[in-house]
Amino acid sequence: MKFADIVINRPIEGPFTYSIPESLEGTIKTGSVVEVSFGNKMVTGYVVGLSDKCDIERIKPISGIIDKNLNLEPEMLELTKWISKYYYSSWGEAISAAIPGVLKKSSKTRKSAREEKEIEFIDGSSERLTLNPDQKDALDSITRSMDEKIHRVFLLHGVTGSGKTEVYLQAIAHVLELGLSSIILVPEISLTPQTVARFKARFKEKIAVLHSRLLGSRRISEWNRISSGEAQIIIGARSAVFAPVKKLGLIVVDEEYETSYKQEDVPRYNARDVAIKRAEISKAVVILGSATPSLESFYAAKNGKYTLVELSERIDSRLLPTVDIVDMREEMTRAKKVPIFSQKLREWIEKDIREKKQVILFLNRRGFSTFVNCRKCGYVIKCKRCSVSLTYHFDKKKLVCHHCNFNMEPPQICPECNAAYLKYWGLGTEKVESELYRLFPGAVIARMDTDATQKRGTHDRVLSKFKDGNIDILIGTQMIAKGLDFPKVTLVGVISADTALNLPDYRSAERTFNLLTQVAGRAGRSDLGGRVIIQSYTPQHYSIQAAKTHDYNTFYDKEINLRKELNLPPFCHMVSLTLRGRKEERVFNASDNLRAAIEKEDKSKNIEILGPAPSPISKMKGMYRWNIFLRSESAENITPILKKVLDKNKSSGIIVTVDVDPN
Ligand code: ADP
Ligand code: ZN
Repeated sequence: MKFADIVINRPIEGPFTYSIPESLEGTIKTGSVVEVSFGNKMVTGYVVGLSDKCDIERIKPISGIIDKNLNLEPEMLELTKWISKYYYSSWGEAISAAIPGVLKKSSKTRKSAREEKEIEFIDGSSERLTLNPDQKDALDSITRSMDEKIHRVFLLHGVTGSGKTEVYLQAIAHVLELGLSSIILVPEISLTPQTVARFKARFKEKIAVLHSRLLGSRRISEWNRISSGEAQIIIGARSAVFAPVKKLGLIVVDEEYETSYKQEDVPRYNARDVAIKRAEISKAVVILGSATPSLESFYAAKNGKYTLVELSERIDSRLLPTVDIVDMREEMTRAKKVPIFSQKLREWIEKDIREKKQVILFLNRRGFSTFVNCRKCGYVIKCKRCSVSLTYHFDKKKLVCHHCNFNMEPPQICPECNAAYLKYWGLGTEKVESELYRLFPGAVIARMDTDATQKRGTHDRVLSKFKDGNIDILIGTQMIAKGLDFPKVTLVGVISADTALNLPDYRSAERTFNLLTQVAGRAGRSDLGGRVIIQSYTPQHYSIQAAKTHDYNTFYDKEINLRKELNLPPFCHMVSLTLRGRKEERVFNASDNLRAAIEKEDKSKNIEILGPAPSPISKMKGMYRWNIFLRSESAENITPILKKVLDKNKSSGIIVTVDVDPN
């Protein structure tokens, strides 16, 4: 073979043909990662095909091979090709997302990096447990598919503590016996130390953990351990779906509804859906596990596209925690102000810390006050580059933009009318923390959010201190909603259930229900029992009521009917287009033109077009933003049309991003 078809990590499709120099003949294969000159730059390229003929006259040679041992398997090429089609990127961009950055640099420029020590949780039994009847049924039906080598997607539905993880562990053990490998995806690896610990306890050195913190040489050696088959069980976040296992038997996606499975950069893939595609290509089994499956997945399971397996009870029939909902409107009337804690929550915190139990408080907003305004003229202090109010951070004594990180000293007087009546409103985790110090002076209090854990290692340190019982009250954002299992936590307080509910997003009810259920799952993980107190100004909302009774099915029935009525996913697929630019009028005009062009191109009228409308945050980092939403029965109706239209309609100064199945 004399010529190679090569794609690169740029938004241009290709492939581009290069000649193979004599010195590399026989070394370059389909799947090789090479260096080529493109334009007048050296870039990394991926060989997607070989040929011995070429009609192009002046052809450039391949400059070099990055690593002889790095070769993309045909299955990986097929998978990335699919990603590029479905999620609207170039093939080169999709391949690039599948390989860690360090492997794409030539070995000469690779730096050897110092490895970071982390605190290890060792947890859980190394022996397999005797399954209860529900677990056994679930496992049987899963292993049957494995033995028959049939690709199938299982939705494992069961409340926290119903034994899902034990089913994963035994399914993985079965896959090992068949001589195959497993990939386990978790939402965020650093937030699930205890889950990882259970896998390590069971499978020891067969495990590879893909951390985002793995640096340079360690990442390469883990990659090699996986591709050589030495590590047969791979745990990691989103990008672990691309782990280079050769004989794939199983992919587990834990908490499959999590938004962190979605990549926010090109290619904007959802790792859950990529996992399903990869398993389909490799004839492997997928287990999607959750207490609160996404509407999409549960709908697919109900319609027979996936296989539903349910764990109906908690292990040892332990009761789910009691959930109380406090109507904050009444509290407000009684207290004659906007209280942070209801009387009920305050009393329970007091009682629990007196009895040396532990409390988790949850609020999904960081900072101290979420906005500052002038009581005289109403002026709200906003970020100059983004159309959002600035959050006051007490720790730093600064007003901070949560989108672009712009910060400034808080002014003493109103920048608009010079009145000295600036008032700080809204509630963040810092304010809850300071109020806790005031109300419970003897208690040991810790806060966990992205501000408090910025310093490396802080996160693990706070968790292990909490685990050892050296913290009474832990306050945090969604960082503490996931996976933590601390038996002495008997009380979980949700400071405001309404934060997620008020977002302008058709998924807000689903998000609220999921979050409340998940947070509630942190309480009552031992015989000490548990109680959850949810504070809300809209206590009658069905997502909050369903969380009170831990009732997924009722929530699902209500929500799926609404989605059907409004023709929202899972009844359609959405594609969101965002147009950005520095001149508002240009952005608007370009959006209008784009809409018209799509309408014209869509001859069979399969696509419904909504907008253009300003984005919920209409200006970010100095760029005005408008959205167009497209919906259709399948995303494949939309992307080919977009391809035609966007290639033809380029406006200068306007950036268009395409997001298929957006979060
Ligand atoms: P989930 O993943 O659904 O939250 P887990 O698998 O973590 O549930 O199980 C909850 C707890 O019950 C864990 O401490 C686990 O070790 C234990 N457990 C799970 N299955 C069994 C079983 N069959 N027998 C005894 N204990 C079990
Ligand atoms: Zn900003």
